[in-house]
Amino acid sequence: MTRIEFLGTGTSHGVPVIGCHCPVCSSSDPRDKRWRSSICITKGTTTVVIDTGYEFRLQALRAGIDKLDAVLYTHQHSDHLMGLDDLRVFTDKKKLPIYGFPSTLSAIERIFPYAFEELPYKGVPRLEKHEVEERKPFFIGDIEFMAIPVMHGMMRIAGYRFGNIAYITDASNILFEENKEALSGIRTLIIGALRDKPHWSHFTFKEAIEVADLIGAEDVYFTHINHATSANEIESRFLPRAKGAYDTLVLEVDDDR
Ligand SMILES: [Zn+2]
Ligand SMILES: [Zn+2]
Ligand SMILES: [Zn+2]
Repeated sequence: MTRIEFLGTGTSHGVPVIGCHCPVCSSSDPRDKRWRSSICITKGTTTVVIDTGYEFRLQALRAGIDKLDAVLYTHQHSDHLMGLDDLRVFTDKKKLPIYGFPSTLSAIERIFPYAFEELPYKGVPRLEKHEVEERKPFFIGDIEFMAIPVMHGMMRIAGYRFGNIAYITDASNILFEENKEALSGIRTLIIGALRDKPHWSHFTFKEAIEVADLIGAEDVYFTHINHATSANEIESRFLPRAKGAYDTLVLEVDDDR
């Protein structure tokens, strides 16, 4: 059994957007409060987070995360990265491993050089880089992962597969031909779906469903959603084919199916 908790399901601005008074930003539905996208995965004794956006501290407190084995990064855009400094509470005794494509890890080291120094200033996060190769499985504790390359506009970034689950956010093309084998057998797909209006570097809801159909995923959850669409509207328009994920949603997925 794999447990997934959505720490955040919003696009880069978060929802509500600062200064916006649209119906979704003004909504009292708690599902319309979308912090920056991230998930926490737990299996056996292993806990892994994918991405650490600006609200990472708040998300970790809300989800009660008191132990962390590693962080996987999809890419270095700030809405996925800038909560990194708060990882320091997990690095008192030993360095915390972080995983990502080489381009992502080198960007992270450029932005946070002090987290990788050998004799660091006291009180900084101490991180250890682990480069991942495209479509090559690797283990973190009890969980086997595989990085699946996808296009986010012009940027080649990582989606992550674990068991029969995939987390693909910030994508506009899943490179189906080259990833065919790596994508086969995925039953639960968590996929970035920004809004209805086309966007050059993100899927729309409709495109995200087309991707799910192409892969043959049965359970589909939208994430990285902006403020154009309420949780209620997503529910009424896309059920039963897809569900809108929302912050604090927990999935318990049977990975033996
Ligand atoms: Zn993003
Ligand atoms: Zn708004
Ligand atoms: Zn991005």
